[in-house]
Amino acid sequence: MFRSLPLLFPLLLAACAVTTHPARPCALGAPSSSAQMLAVLDAPGPVEVETVASVDWAVERSGLINLDNPKAKAANLKDGDEPIQIFFHVLRHPERGTYLVDTGVETALRDHPERASIRGFVASFMHLEKMRFHAPLGEWLAAHPQDKVAGVFFTHLHLDHISGGGDVPAGTPLYAGPEEATAHAFLNLFTQASTDRALDGKPALNEWRYAPDPSGRFDGVQDVFGDQSVFALWVPGHTPGSTAYVVRTPHGSVLLTGDACHTRWGWDNDVEPGSFSGDRPRSAQSLHRLRQLAAEHPALDVRLGHQR
Ligand SMILES: [Zn+2]
Ligand SMILES: [Zn+2]
Repeated sequence: MFRSLPLLFPLLLAACAVTTHPARPCALGAPSSSAQMLAVLDAPGPVEVETVASVDWAVERSGLINLDNPKAKAANLKDGDEPIQIFFHVLRHPERGTYLVDTGVETALRDHPERASIRGFVASFMHLEKMRFHAPLGEWLAAHPQDKVAGVFFTHLHLDHISGGGDVPAGTPLYAGPEEATAHAFLNLFTQASTDRALDGKPALNEWRYAPDPSGRFDGVQDVFGDQSVFALWVPGHTPGSTAYVVRTPHGSVLLTGDACHTRWGWDNDVEPGSFSGDRPRSAQSLHRLRQLAAEHPALDVRLGHQR
């Protein structure tokens, strides 16, 4: 048995990747920079954004906010259930069509939980029984037949952001940050099957091609369509490939932070996410960078990962 351990070891490592779904460099858009984004950030753009709350939910505050941060201690913030929502964002580009940022939850999670991507042990661990359903993705898409989904831009691949994947039509292109699919962690042993199911039937995941940002403001910036209408910002820490999106609308720019910031309190008080994040110092740096961007551009419409 012990002689076969070296043979088993790579298998164990493979089992610990976020997903077995393949990933490849993205062919859409082009690497960009903070300078190029900042030059157009305050100018109106062509893309409309609609943010939809898929479900109400509640999770531990200590996962959402680092309660050991001195500001959280000074505010006497304690652990307990924090009310949150799971969103998806609908981006309507006049030429490129409709894209989603994240996916909310799938309709099966409400109607046929035994068939949902997240089920069994993982579903009970996540306390999905606390969910109150508003707009499962499939139900919403059926009510909006004009929105044919041309692609999904993920902020990251945590289950609460990809759960609606089962309601995304087969063959739809998917996009996420570098290493988001391939990063290894012990916890992935439990979540990998659910992640694989949520991505099943879709082509290989396209990874944003971030080039180093010359100004160092962000780890990387990509011009998503190559027309400066949508930018992907690399904000690692919560996960290795965590990505925020800046969308230029006719009414000004919208910043979708993803889980670089989960909560309103965390944003207002500059306190990074808690135990749900893999690298807290890096997530604190990414949050600081996003808050600086918003401070310098007060008209920016900031939409956080899990609260309004
Ligand atoms: Zn997350
Ligand atoms: Zn999340």
